Amino acid sequence: MTAAAGSRPAGRDGWAQPDHRPAAEAGAPGGADRGTPGTAPSFHEMWRDLAPIGRNPESGGYRRFAWTGADTDCREWFKAQAETRGLTYETDRNGNQWAWLGDPAAGDAVVTGSHLDSVPDGGAFDGPLGVVSSFAALDELRARGARPGRPLAIVNFGDEEGARFGLACVGSRLTAGQLTLDKAHALRDADGVSLAQAMERAGHDPEAIGADPGRLARIGAFVELHVEQGRALADTPHAVGVASAIWPHGRWRFDFHGEANHAGTTRIEDRRDPMLTYANTVLAARKKARLAGALATFGKVSVEPNGVNAIASLVRGWLDSRAADEETLAAVVAEIEQAAVERGTRDGVGVHVTRESFTPVVEFAHDLRDELATLLGGVPVLPTGAGHDAGILSGVIPTAMMFVRNPTGVSHSPAETAAEDDCLAGVTALADVLEGLACR
Ligand SMILES: [Zn+2]
Repeated sequence: MTAAAGSRPAGRDGWAQPDHRPAAEAGAPGGADRGTPGTAPSFHEMWRDLAPIGRNPESGGYRRFAWTGADTDCREWFKAQAETRGLTYETDRNGNQWAWLGDPAAGDAVVTGSHLDSVPDGGAFDGPLGVVSSFAALDELRARGARPGRPLAIVNFGDEEGARFGLACVGSRLTAGQLTLDKAHALRDADGVSLAQAMERAGHDPEAIGADPGRLARIGAFVELHVEQGRALADTPHAVGVASAIWPHGRWRFDFHGEANHAGTTRIEDRRDPMLTYANTVLAARKKARLAGALATFGKVSVEPNGVNAIASLVRGWLDSRAADEETLAAVVAEIEQAAVERGTRDGVGVHVTRESFTPVVEFAHDLRDELATLLGGVPVLPTGAGHDAGILSGVIPTAMMFVRNPTGVSHSPAETAAEDDCLAGVTALADVLEGLACR
């Protein structure tokens, strides 16, 4: 590994600086020793070509939102990667892109891939690392002379982050039948453009979307490689880990009802200030989560009337909470609610809690997970608190995830990074997994 590379500031394309030396000299991914057959672009070349697409020059972050121009450019990049390797390219009815080595209709396929869209001002690695690594791993398999006995495919799932229409994993949800046509057609972006309109403008038929069980039935295993969104690997000697599960998580809206009044004339003892109750609830959330080994975050808040010289009448805070199991999560949220109500009683503030969403725990297929860990020589097996397409698909087909070490753990930010050598280790690990699964 190159630990030093990870501590350098991220460059414009997300790589640690400096990144302007020739690929081979810099030890960059896909350098001359990669052995890529034919004219297939190396990892470094793929990364370089993808890097400028949808980058916001002011923040250095990415704005690759579903069915926008940047998304179209990413999708054209994917198609070109498939075609330059002689892979069979197709877009499915839900707008997910596929590149096949072998017969797509043969069944029992081994599929890898991730997504190319981003959150607002997201990092370079979340999603693209999995897609670029997939093409590079396929090249490595070919360079090894591996002979897959099962079809192999690389997928780019559409609209994973949900940055534009507010719902994550739209492409995989539709395919898995976890999002109805009506609900999909009702999705709108901040400008009022519907998902259907956006798809149509990008040249995709919105009437064709929907569950695709026939496609999923032809897949024997899905493995998603992703940059780690935490620091579990950072202090270990391992560049790559395997996912055990995705923590259950949910969102709860806390409404704190008080009484609006004058900030200059209302005596302290006469106030019913919901901001006070809210502030104490934020502190309680941190404490309860810490004691339970869980996570609890108030990251969004709205205030009425929102005046500097007015005691608020209503404070509305949104709690995001996650834990290793559903019992712990339920207990933590209940304790936070209890703390809010008790404090509200003292403050003369009414507290009302609404659960807005909940996602149960996702346990990745144990057989596949254990097989990956064995193929990779006993790498760490660790849970994650983030949702993924792999989490959606795990309910339908055997699914696994691999994580590449992230030295800072930062994600969904331009500061997201991974050392070049770790990315290369990820490519080799993915090639080992694909070979182990498809060539036995
Ligand atoms: Zn992602």
